[in-house]
Amino acid sequence: MAQLLADRRDVDFVLHEQFQIADLSKHEKYAEFNKKTIDLIVSEARNLAIKEILPTRPLGDKEGCKFENGKVKVPESYHKIYGLIKEGEWIAMSDDPEYGGQGMPHTVAAAATDYLVAANHSFSMYGGLCHGAGKLVEEFGTDKQIKMFLKKMYSGEWSGTMLLTEAEAGTDVGALTTSAKKNEDGTYSITGNKIFISGGEQNLTENIIHPVLARIEGAPAGTAGISLFIVPKIWVNDDGTLGEPNDVVCTGIEEKMGLHGNATCSLALGGKGKCRGLLLGGENKGIKVMFLMMNDARLQVGLQGLTCASPSYLYALDYAKQRVQGKHLLKAMDESAPGVPIIQHPDVRRQLMIMKSYVEGMRSLVYFISYCFDMVSITESDEEKAKYQGLADLLTPIVKGYITDKAFEICSHAIQIYGGYGYVTEYPVEQYMRDCRITMIYEGTNGIQAMDLLGRKLGMNKGKPVKDLVGEILKTIASAKGIQGIESLAENLEKALNKLGEVTKHIGASARSPKVLSAFAFAHPFMEVTGDVVMAWMLLWRAVIAAPKLEKLAGTGPERRAKIEKDKNAAFYEGQLKSAEFFINALLPVTSGKMDAIFGLSSSVVDIPEASFGG
Ligand SMILES: Cc1cc2nc3c(=O)[nH]c(=O)nc-3n(C[C@H](O)[C@H](O)[C@H](O)COP(=O)(O)OP(=O)(O)OC[C@H]3O[C@@H](n4cnc5c(N)ncnc54)[C@H](O)[C@@H]3O)c2cc1C
Repeated sequence: MAQLLADRRDVDFVLHEQFQIADLSKHEKYAEFNKKTIDLIVSEARNLAIKEILPTRPLGDKEGCKFENGKVKVPESYHKIYGLIKEGEWIAMSDDPEYGGQGMPHTVAAAATDYLVAANHSFSMYGGLCHGAGKLVEEFGTDKQIKMFLKKMYSGEWSGTMLLTEAEAGTDVGALTTSAKKNEDGTYSITGNKIFISGGEQNLTENIIHPVLARIEGAPAGTAGISLFIVPKIWVNDDGTLGEPNDVVCTGIEEKMGLHGNATCSLALGGKGKCRGLLLGGENKGIKVMFLMMNDARLQVGLQGLTCASPSYLYALDYAKQRVQGKHLLKAMDESAPGVPIIQHPDVRRQLMIMKSYVEGMRSLVYFISYCFDMVSITESDEEKAKYQGLADLLTPIVKGYITDKAFEICSHAIQIYGGYGYVTEYPVEQYMRDCRITMIYEGTNGIQAMDLLGRKLGMNKGKPVKDLVGEILKTIASAKGIQGIESLAENLEKALNKLGEVTKHIGASARSPKVLSAFAFAHPFMEVTGDVVMAWMLLWRAVIAAPKLEKLAGTGPERRAKIEKDKNAAFYEGQLKSAEFFINALLPVTSGKMDAIFGLSSSVVDIPEASFGG
């Protein structure tokens, strides 16, 4: 199978044709990253992903993690690939070389991650959390803390985690009861129990650095009184050497639906009164500090959604080309007609089009956010910086919430295309669906993402990011209006965008009125319609690039179809036009209906007495 995880042509299209990422090398910060280097990085990531990591995906799923006497063993095959990830310095791709990062553009890192995570989601989380926890130390650590921890985390020598969740404090982080007490030497004694901690214990690294949320004795209740602490599994001395084991005990791991290769741990902190931590970022600043990691993690989870959807599509596509079943619909009554590959059946093609258009739109959106970060880091204009940061902030709940919702649907379509074989473990798609399901839950459930979009992001900076987003979409629409063949798509997207503007005003005003509960009952559908319009934008943007290139390759005359069938590039560009056409003409009208439902803001959800739910 030529393409397993992410279609390289598509990855290159987004990097080089949509975002022209090699142009970033004109800036000093990214001077080393010309097209040749970028392509080499993506090729290396792809090779590593396909040759070394992918075979461990089913192995890790079957073997799972083992828990014995407080120790966790990860699947055996993960040890070799963790070594390769460390050796290739894949953990801190876009971070500062001074701290062991590779300093590459975020967009290039996103492309590499596209392959690396798709190859094995559960394995990728060990390195991903190292990076997230390291980022906290980099941003908020003292010079001494940075020196003690950062390089070892960015290199993967020590791993990282994220300790928020407790039995009674899931979404409601402010309800946590883990406590901290200042010691005379400036460290803090931590006591509490955390659950659902990814990679909380494992045998891949000699040390694990846990960022832990806890409340200092006497601090205010709720999120305002939460602080963040660095709690190493093994104490780190001031000179960076390892000291005594800290009082952090893994009390069990979860049996779960997917992600079997990633240990989801319960951790007891300070059971013997000896768990020590270092304050990170100031007393009572924990939530603010943790949000940095959570935002980064939310984008990573959106990327995880893409990396479940993309291989699911490619596997299903490959299967649909090979599986022969039934006759062509136009020859259904012809006894002598041969069976055809199922890709020839309209219902299968419809599902493949849904998958293709979403995967492409998701890829563009995920890379676009990374591109925004690249622009933030290179632009000298404060206005531009604020614009790109605002776009990234506004789109974060859509990347996390919308993409993962849709990714799960894509995984389900893949199983449908495989038929009964999709449901059995011998084929790869059922694991993608099981692994994908958690992306809708962790890092803030998708319901919470929708509330974030409606309650915080819309009104952020007096609506400036929303205006900027609309401005960017209108630019694409204006370009598309000038290109023969896609003008009507531009008009249809413009209609949807205008309607979304009305819906936004309506739900935004309702959220500030006595109808607030009804408004928030529709926060999730609102996130969905916003995501649909953003997807349509990304696909139209792709079509704007593809249309003239296709015309050059295949012309506009009767020979066009034959040329498209012969020329791979022409076929790819035609595929871009078809994705945009399908999404905008066949799916956006459904979005319009969903917008009508939001206008209706039915109060039934709020009015129904609990007793009337039945049960
Ligand atoms: C495999 C796995 C890995 C995880 N990894 C980590 C990790 O590394 N570190 C960590 O700290 N945690 C981790 N978690 C925990 C995860 O982040 C939480 O499960 C998640 O935040 C939801 O919390 P909860 O499970 O307590 O659900 P609840 O908070 O009980 O939520 C239940 C439902 O109610 C809804 N809900 C709750 N409150 C509200 C509200 N105010 N408004 C609207 N709806 C609401 C939620 O959307 C959800 O649908 C992990 C969980 C799993 C399963």
